Amino acid sequence: GRPGCECNGCFHGPDCSRRTLNCTADAESADQMFMEPYWMRHAAESAVVVSGWHRLSYFATDGEYQSVELERHIRRLHRAVGNAVADDKHIVFGTGSMKLINALVHALSPDDGTISSPGMVVATAPYYAPYRTQTMMFDGREYKWEGTTEAWAANASSSHPSNSSTFIEFVTSPNNPDFLLRKPVLGGRVIADHAYYWPHFTPIPSPADEDVMLFSASKLSGHAGSRFGWALVRDEKVALRAKEYIEESSLGESRDTQLRMLSIIKVILANLHGKEDMFAFAHEEMSTRWTRFNTVVSGSRRISVQKISPQFCTYLNRTREPTPAFAWVKCERKQDQDCYDALLKANIISWSGVDGEASARYTRVSLVKARDDFDVLLERLTDFVNDEKKQS
Ligand code: PMP
Repeated sequence: GRPGCECNGCFHGPDCSRRTLNCTADAESADQMFMEPYWMRHAAESAVVVSGWHRLSYFATDGEYQSVELERHIRRLHRAVGNAVADDKHIVFGTGSMKLINALVHALSPDDGTISSPGMVVATAPYYAPYRTQTMMFDGREYKWEGTTEAWAANASSSHPSNSSTFIEFVTSPNNPDFLLRKPVLGGRVIADHAYYWPHFTPIPSPADEDVMLFSASKLSGHAGSRFGWALVRDEKVALRAKEYIEESSLGESRDTQLRMLSIIKVILANLHGKEDMFAFAHEEMSTRWTRFNTVVSGSRRISVQKISPQFCTYLNRTREPTPAFAWVKCERKQDQDCYDALLKANIISWSGVDGEASARYTRVSLVKARDDFDVLLERLTDFVNDEKKQS
């Protein structure tokens, strides 16, 4: 149970430890509550006290919104984990990586004053829907949402409108929702969203080293509520334009949050490769969940899940199976054209990939919520598979 928390629909009682029978399993969101036990174990070590007089100022140092100490620790973390080359990059903080999506689109768009050819923002389906929805919200002279890469790749030479236009391609690796490792498809500029490129979710074959990379505290340590993300940017001018965007829209990111993230990263670093390694804890949990989930699905002919090949992981120093944050479920029967709907009828709420231009045959099931929620999910899924056997 979780004292002091509001219970969700599947639990009740003073500490939310009592199960509500036959409730609907909510596996929609990517809220990484599975990390909570780790941070409970490290409660004192990770705690931050902020007195009333503390951090009143807009600024961390003269005219600077970003804590240099936090930047240093982010670089140390990437170096120690080996998932990204950060030492030769500029760092831009954002209110979650969500805020940096548009900051980076702006920063990579043409800056020629007249803007005769706007940046063409694209992604490969199935993609993380906010790339489209956010870009379309701000669509203007500078850049436009131009759909999926498939359409452009198919007739690259004939339909490319002019040589001076630039694609701004979101490349999410591992991808949300299907968790495959991805590479750019078109030849333009790239925003590599590496929110999930950490050893608990994927083998790390080598450090990522794209010109523009995006990371998120929500996926690193589970601290989604702190709203903190960062971009690693090679080119100084691009980094400055992204920082200008942050300055215009929020005068820098919360300094309370920066302080908290510093303390969280210090705990992660202090325990790296030890018996309380956060990545080892999280990997173990995700690995168990992925195995349990697959065991249930293997009894079904109605649904299947994505296959991801094992790869060598430089962090764990061995070849390992994937441990994705999401199951990308496919409905195999002709009559189950809407997979989201098929699961909903079995009392499982998933996230339909249709928003990310995926086929309705697929739906995303989150594996990262609290253990209790995952247990409820497996019960509903087991019922679903057993019902299928009764019918056949
Ligand atoms: N990118 C990807 C691929 C995501 O899955 C998410 C969150 N689900 C985000 C960015 C945004 O994360 P946040 O704003 O919490 O950093």
